[in-house]
Amino acid sequence: MRLPCSRLESLLWVSICVAAVAVNAQTAPPNPQPDSRFKVDILEIVAHPDDDIEVAAYVAQLIERQHKRVAVAYTTRGNSGGNAAGPEQSNALADIREMEARHSLASYGIVDAWFLGGSDTPGGDVLRSLERWGHGKTQEEIVRLVRLTRPEVILTWLPNYDVGENHEDHQAAGVLATDAFDLAANPLAFPAQVDAPRDRFNINNYGEGLRPWQPKKIYYFSDATNLDFAKGKGPEYQTQDISPSRKVPYSQVAAEAWGSYKTQNDFNDAQLKEFTEKPVRLIFGKSLVGGSVTGDIFEGMEPQPIGYVRARGYQPPPAGLALELGGPWAFYQAFWRAHNIEHLADLYPPQAQVAPGESLWVPLLIRNNTDSTKEVHLRATLPAGWGETPAADIYTIAPHDSYPVQLRITSLAKDKDTWKTLTWEGESDGRGIGSVTLRVDVVGNYLSQ
Ligand SMILES: [Zn+2]
Repeated sequence: MRLPCSRLESLLWVSICVAAVAVNAQTAPPNPQPDSRFKVDILEIVAHPDDDIEVAAYVAQLIERQHKRVAVAYTTRGNSGGNAAGPEQSNALADIREMEARHSLASYGIVDAWFLGGSDTPGGDVLRSLERWGHGKTQEEIVRLVRLTRPEVILTWLPNYDVGENHEDHQAAGVLATDAFDLAANPLAFPAQVDAPRDRFNINNYGEGLRPWQPKKIYYFSDATNLDFAKGKGPEYQTQDISPSRKVPYSQVAAEAWGSYKTQNDFNDAQLKEFTEKPVRLIFGKSLVGGSVTGDIFEGMEPQPIGYVRARGYQPPPAGLALELGGPWAFYQAFWRAHNIEHLADLYPPQAQVAPGESLWVPLLIRNNTDSTKEVHLRATLPAGWGETPAADIYTIAPHDSYPVQLRITSLAKDKDTWKTLTWEGESDGRGIGSVTLRVDVVGNYLSQ
């Protein structure tokens, strides 16, 4: 039988035990860090193979002179559209266009590109592309690529409708990129992506093993016919500087990169020269690290990662009655506010385009954010000779409901090449509830709504 220890003896034992633990202490293996081969400074998120050419003259300079790393995510493989190189269409065209993009990107130093499965959807309504691609599915894929490539800056299409650049796929790429900017650092967004693998060396593993990642800045670009609205809204980069390795201006580097897209027949040589010699004009989206609106995109950038920054999120409309443009216009108003990029609403007033003599879809939304049923009178002011269907002008809206008014507006052929202004006013119980104005470009060549 062991005798009870004295106090001194107990202390001695404790010291010996602690010393023994220290001698046997095991250091945990290092935490495996994200695969550095795929870390980039810039991730471009675009819709179609060849969209990258929009900023290629600038990006080629960054890669060659500043040794920046750039990758591209395409939300489609470009399975629609004409083929200037041969008879292939549909999935065969997509196979070709993916290869064209890889060759084009490689010509100025980009080797990492991912092509998602969205279908190339020509038109002007962003919500249709998101519907056809599967908004959630594509968002999950884009968030994964942001977490994998860990970009400091995201460059993407402008999430807005504007005359001359209204491709719904472009807009949808901008929407998804903005979503991903605000989601990728949130571990509750697609949590399986950031789940640590239980045994990464084993088969049948699960948990994707990515880390949450917060990009620092997002900028937009547009191929609108008239880019005056973007002047002073972000940095602008000239394209005449000479590439030290190629001994030609970066505009020509971009033009040669475009040469890989032989299926595309957008430009003749003169148009391509003009297009690539234009400055690359970016529109400031937001920055989480300071810097000015028109300053360099890497201004204020520090090398260390930053933590999650919560965007404002959805804000319900205020109480009362309201009249606004519906459809994609209503979506964008709420979307911009939710993502803290509401300044995009100030770039230009709502606009649309219509072929002369043809009809224009105008969705209006009457919101009744009150506790009682309301009757609203709608009054249109249209250009002389233009028509509107349906002819109804009294609408009844249930409490906390919205009435989507789907209007067909008929234009006049004689108004070709003019801008027209269309206005609607709403009134209830003798009081105005607001008005909306839409500027319409009457042009011969445009994407259908
Ligand atoms: Zn495109």
